[in-house]
Amino acid sequence: TARLQGKTALITGGAGGCGLAASERFAAEGAKVGIVDLPGAKGEEVARRLREAGHQAIFAPADVSDAGQVARAVATVEDAFGPITVLMNHAGILAALPFLETGEEEWDRVMAVNVKSMFLVTKAVLPGMIAAGGGSVICTSSISAVVGTPMEVLYCTSKGACHMFARAIAVEFRDRGIRANAICPGFIATAHGLREIEMLGKQGVDVSEGMIAQAQGRLCKPEEVAAAALFLASDDASFVNGAHLFADNGYTAI
Ligand code: NAD
Repeated sequence: TARLQGKTALITGGAGGCGLAASERFAAEGAKVGIVDLPGAKGEEVARRLREAGHQAIFAPADVSDAGQVARAVATVEDAFGPITVLMNHAGILAALPFLETGEEEWDRVMAVNVKSMFLVTKAVLPGMIAAGGGSVICTSSISAVVGTPMEVLYCTSKGACHMFARAIAVEFRDRGIRANAICPGFIATAHGLREIEMLGKQGVDVSEGMIAQAQGRLCKPEEVAAAALFLASDDASFVNGAHLFADNGYTAI
């Protein structure tokens, strides 16, 4: 049976990488899916493809670091599909550069897209979710929330914040039926993951896809992140709240 039947899901970054895999999987499991991604991203195409396959999906363009755009996108999804009962805060960007060369603008941009976005989107979604009787918030964190990776002070700091955002939301809202959990993927062969390897290489960090794959056994697949998110989104996780679910094949367990 479909595990998300009757739920409305909003996925930020839902048009690319693991966000796309989650949009596809959530729709296949019966959710009505609101894809929030940058204007001009492939969101419209993805939503159309899902509708052609018989699912309910809509694209609501927004830069998730912009309060006005977030408010409009959340309203668009709620108008189309009713209150959002699954929120996946997935959109995020990379930074791989020496700490002493990190500019203030770069710092603010990454913190805005990776962290402030969770504040803006979650704050816009929660009133409807609470009124609907509760729901699930999933925040995409990373192994970089718990292990320092070279040249990634900014990125690791932002992911550490995502990590604790989920936990503190869980504590503040559990009496209103809200569950909030974080997913912490290892290295994934998405545009983001492959860019990370390339950027680190340019900084002289001795990494390669092969080395990273070796550390985890292999690279993580976007579908595996989507499957972990599906569990957290579904009622199977009804007593799972404030958890950090690692999808890294034991990379951080050593
Ligand atoms: P990706 O780059 O393949 O896709 C990210 C999606 O987010 C894209 O569709 C992009 O358009 C969208 N996006 C970017 N900035 C946005 C903004 N300001 N507003 C709205 N949408 C925006 O990435 P991915 O591999 O799916 O990774 C994304 C998330 O996963 C990030 O939060 C990242 O920290 C996390 N993560 C990735 C890896 C990895 O190795 N790829 C590992 C751990 C965690």
